[in-house]
Amino acid sequence: MQVTIRKAEQLKALPDEANLGFGSIFTDHMFNIDYNPKEGWHNPRIEPYATISMDPATMVLHYGQGVFEGLKAYNTDTGNIQLFRPQENFKRLNSSCRRLCIPEIDEAFMLEALKQLLQLEKRWVPQAPDTSLYIRPTVIAMDPFLGVRASDTYRLYIILSPVGAYYAEGFNPIKIWVSADHVRAVRGGVGATKTVGNYAASLYAGQQAHEKGYAQVMWLDAIERRFVEEVGSMNIFFVIDNELITPELSGSILPGITRHSVIQLAKQWDLRITERKISIEEVIDAQQGGKLQEVFGSGTAAVISPVGEIGFADKLFTIADGKVGPMAQKFFDALTDIQYGKVEDTMNWIVSI
Ligand SMILES: *Cc1c(COP(=O)(O)O)cnc(C)c1O
Repeated sequence: MQVTIRKAEQLKALPDEANLGFGSIFTDHMFNIDYNPKEGWHNPRIEPYATISMDPATMVLHYGQGVFEGLKAYNTDTGNIQLFRPQENFKRLNSSCRRLCIPEIDEAFMLEALKQLLQLEKRWVPQAPDTSLYIRPTVIAMDPFLGVRASDTYRLYIILSPVGAYYAEGFNPIKIWVSADHVRAVRGGVGATKTVGNYAASLYAGQQAHEKGYAQVMWLDAIERRFVEEVGSMNIFFVIDNELITPELSGSILPGITRHSVIQLAKQWDLRITERKISIEEVIDAQQGGKLQEVFGSGTAAVISPVGEIGFADKLFTIADGKVGPMAQKFFDALTDIQYGKVEDTMNWIVSI
């Protein structure tokens, strides 16, 4: 398949790199490809960024048959533009597609198409420290139809958004709240996919957490309401008695690429790393016994997000001294050094465009 390119007649002015924020500025072009049962995925094209006009009955709007991905392009000191493990994102996009009855797409082709889009949009990859170009591949069900079934037609698009340094005010630990009333996902459901409805389902508990003065929700499993699953839209790690622990992938946890990278680095560094169930009682007991050394989240947006306090059952538990722990700092530095090309990529994680 050949990607056709139609360039924008007028290019936008580049934004101020000091005030990029997250996800509100978009580049000049986008990638589009369509699916129908007769032609399969067809007509791949890079076009000027534009609104999508759709029938009000379009299925994704009614039944949430849509999936997405999130990754970043980084500008190195030498002006190289590089991606972090992008093959994993397209692999996960296909696994989300399978679960949502959306036809899969050629992963190698998608990576090539993304590289072409980035070649054209190079000037949009910001250069200021810790900024990047966020990449959002999205697939949506396009049939105009109100019956409940899988759509026959789909659109896949990729949009790009320059984003600011996540820790512009410093790498500060956050306060998280354990939701007793709400769950994010249940085994057998769609929690392991990046499908649009998961984020709608998380908003209410998130709002409650904000009202109580917390930054994010810590999610427990939906069946026993005991085992820790994730924090906000990040995976979670604990350091207890010098052991690094992360919940095992149970079917309701999103298999994060940052999570996987932390595990691989931990193994490389000969740390004690365990993927297993960990209950909130175990976490609280460890805190009470002075053995809870660190808690941190992992995800593409923040890379590593240290947790300073946990609100559970109307009590507030402080982790160690409430400051950034050495493990969180070490993983953050190691991952960002690889992403920004400051060190040699011995893990073979980087793809240059
Ligand atoms: C995307 C996401 C993550 C993190 O995945 P990364 O591949 O590390 O960015 C974790 N949890 C949820 C619910 C997510 O949507």
